[in-house]
Amino acid sequence: MTDDPVKNYLEVAVSAPINRPLTYLPPDDCEQQLKPGMRVLVPLGGRKITGYILSRPDSAPSGQKLKNIYEVLDSQPLFPAEQVGFYKWIASYYHYPIGEVIKTALPAGLTQKSGRRVVITESGRKHLPELSESAIIGTQWFSSLLEKGEISSHVTGSIWRTKERRILETWEENGWITISSELVGGTAKAKTETCCALADQFDSTEDLKVSEQKTINILQEISTATNRRFVPRREITRQYPGAGKGLKSLAQKNIVLVEEQQVYRDPFGECFLESDIPETLTGEQNKALESILPALQKKTFTPFLLHGVTGSGKTEVYLQATAFALEQGRTALVLVPEIALATQLEAHFVARFGTRVALLHSGLSSGQRFDQWCRIVQEKADVVIGARSAIFAPLAAPGLIIVDEEHDSSYKQDDGFRYHARDLAVLRASRSGGVVILGSATPSVTSYFHTTTGKYNLLNLYKRIEDRPLPTVEVVNMQSVKTVSGRAPVFSPALISNLRENLVRGEQSLVFLNRRGYANFMICRDCVQAVQCKHCQISLTLHRTGNKLLCHYCGFAVSSTTACSNCQSTSLTPVGVGTERLEHQLTELLPDARIARLDRDTCRKRLDYIKILKAVHKGEIDILLGTQMITKGHHFPNVTLVGIVLADTGLGLPDFRAGERTFQLISQVTGRAGRGEKPGRVIIQTYQPEHYSINMAKNHDYAGMYTRETELRKSLAYPPFSRIVNVKIEGIEDTYVQDAAGRLSNLAQKFQKRSEPEILGPAPAPLARLRDKYRWQLLIKGKKLEALHTFLYRLEGEIATLSKGGKVKISIDVDPEYMM
Ligand code: ADP
Ligand code: ZN
Ligand code: ZN
Repeated sequence: MTDDPVKNYLEVAVSAPINRPLTYLPPDDCEQQLKPGMRVLVPLGGRKITGYILSRPDSAPSGQKLKNIYEVLDSQPLFPAEQVGFYKWIASYYHYPIGEVIKTALPAGLTQKSGRRVVITESGRKHLPELSESAIIGTQWFSSLLEKGEISSHVTGSIWRTKERRILETWEENGWITISSELVGGTAKAKTETCCALADQFDSTEDLKVSEQKTINILQEISTATNRRFVPRREITRQYPGAGKGLKSLAQKNIVLVEEQQVYRDPFGECFLESDIPETLTGEQNKALESILPALQKKTFTPFLLHGVTGSGKTEVYLQATAFALEQGRTALVLVPEIALATQLEAHFVARFGTRVALLHSGLSSGQRFDQWCRIVQEKADVVIGARSAIFAPLAAPGLIIVDEEHDSSYKQDDGFRYHARDLAVLRASRSGGVVILGSATPSVTSYFHTTTGKYNLLNLYKRIEDRPLPTVEVVNMQSVKTVSGRAPVFSPALISNLRENLVRGEQSLVFLNRRGYANFMICRDCVQAVQCKHCQISLTLHRTGNKLLCHYCGFAVSSTTACSNCQSTSLTPVGVGTERLEHQLTELLPDARIARLDRDTCRKRLDYIKILKAVHKGEIDILLGTQMITKGHHFPNVTLVGIVLADTGLGLPDFRAGERTFQLISQVTGRAGRGEKPGRVIIQTYQPEHYSINMAKNHDYAGMYTRETELRKSLAYPPFSRIVNVKIEGIEDTYVQDAAGRLSNLAQKFQKRSEPEILGPAPAPLARLRDKYRWQLLIKGKKLEALHTFLYRLEGEIATLSKGGKVKISIDVDPEYMM
């Protein structure tokens, strides 16, 4: 590189707890292009640390002696320069070190994924075979270098950690080899399949055998029906087994082209070839698109909230908006909650946009994820679908960002770098002049609030496709259900008889309970205390499978025959129901039903999950029971009954969003019923039938819930009428934690200006002990964003002084989703 005196500095975000980027000089003998988005190895406090080039400024902060970076780790950027501003904004908003932000954003396992390629030079070919150092000559890599002329980056990774590295570097200095850094993709190969198409021109008068003509006809038929030129050979031979021979001879005559093509399969293993574009859109879908498409054309930031009841066809709106964005030469980013939902939406997008789609979700191996990432950086994919972290996908300037089920709390990352992907979606679109669509049947109160102030544009889909009715809902008051021996039954007579009827009719049912395990907890009969986790202030949950008591927070497990941790008594009674017990009871009540359970215990892997969903789709399951996992956006046309076993589970939690969440959860489960041709019905069992969340979910009354919630929150100045920051103070020793919390609170009061922001606490967190750590918190409530951040900067500056030599950890959670 010619040493450009102007651009000779590097702004680097180091992956260390440092809030600002640092300035470095390039390596002395740098031959490589240095671009934003590349990783570098830099000196910092006597250590070698990975950093990310953010820019190449033409001046440096004065009065500092600048150091050279050691090494450039990538030959091409891992993210586009356009993204740097986004990262900087994130770091300052979430009060998190920028290098750590970028580290979290990039696909995991990158370090092992980049390697060095060693290639022999002409001079090396002459000199290297004459070497006599036996230590080297014996090695496999040396033979490979001589025979193949190179050492692959997979191999150099291990050499680089040994003394042999020095030898390679000397050889490079001698000009015998070249060493270059390169990204090594995962080993996963894309699936390909033999596909056939008719040649552009062929002489149709040519004499063809009957079998050949028949093969051509079938090829044409499938091609027309699926609107694709190339058709998998498998599809043709399935319809006409004789086609195998026919295709061979037709290929020899150049009438048929045969090619290996990449194929995508849906999560159920079916090949996605047919695109399922509906013939006409509904009036409401059209109306929504009439607002969205012009905004896409204008290329100015426009945020939409798409409020569409369950089964109203939101997906089709997403698909058509995406198609339009692509026509405009822009890219699209689609976020879905976790892997759960990824399945069906992903399939629709792949069916429509084929190989233009890149997938980023936790169902992929790290190699596959990395490959997908590279496809995006290299602009080989212009539609990206993924879960939360896909918000960081390396698209230069996405024209459209879609957040499906925007109310879902899994968009919030709840440890380490705590960000909210939905909020970042809006921000990212605003930076790139894009359109953002937040879609939900039950929007978060905050997002809906923004439509009333004009910040977001509201789009409504009030009706289900084909005017299908929303299900009828019956609420069963469990307090008035007759009990046997004083204990309330798990299933009310109403739910049982409905499940029975549905079974007889051959229709499917869903049964929902938001608690896994067998029993909620074990109570000691002698001292009436629940058995608690050794490491957390949490009751242990009984799991019959494996006969153990399990902590759902830290995973701690003991045998179910353990003694009371308080009085050592061994007479323990299980209390409360979980999905495991539900399955047990249901099997006894309905012995003929085919029952499947979907929760984190039965679905550890994405494949388990898909297997169960597939069985439901195929009608092999009569009753699917489970936790939240069964609520997430599935479209099961034959499900006509939904039972909610206990609707109150979340209502008692000390969290101002408890009512909103309960409403959303019940509405979402309810929305799984009657999505096909037959109408659906729902039975909600509860001990609090009068609670507004339950009542309004019963009446499909989003507006009612919204009004009620906003009134409550306004009076208490909770979001959206303020912003909350939760400062968490944690440590093994309670006295240190308490002391630090007290000092922090004193500082906070000093930094207040005219009682802004409001400071609540310090107080023990609702979960006061987790994973052996005592937890305190300080809640900061601010009405003015800027003042709040100025306050936080000052507080942040003092945090290091309170850590008691690392014994206390203080972290800042901006816009916390859970208050626990
Ligand atoms: P939502 O996400 O709003 O709950 P979906 O997008 O899953 O609803 O749509 C429900 C069903 O309606 C899907 O099977 C979809 O294929 C179908 N659908 C969507 N739009 C149309 C349309 N315009 N005409 C016919 N069917 C449609
Ligand atoms: Zn006891
Ligand atoms: Zn625990």
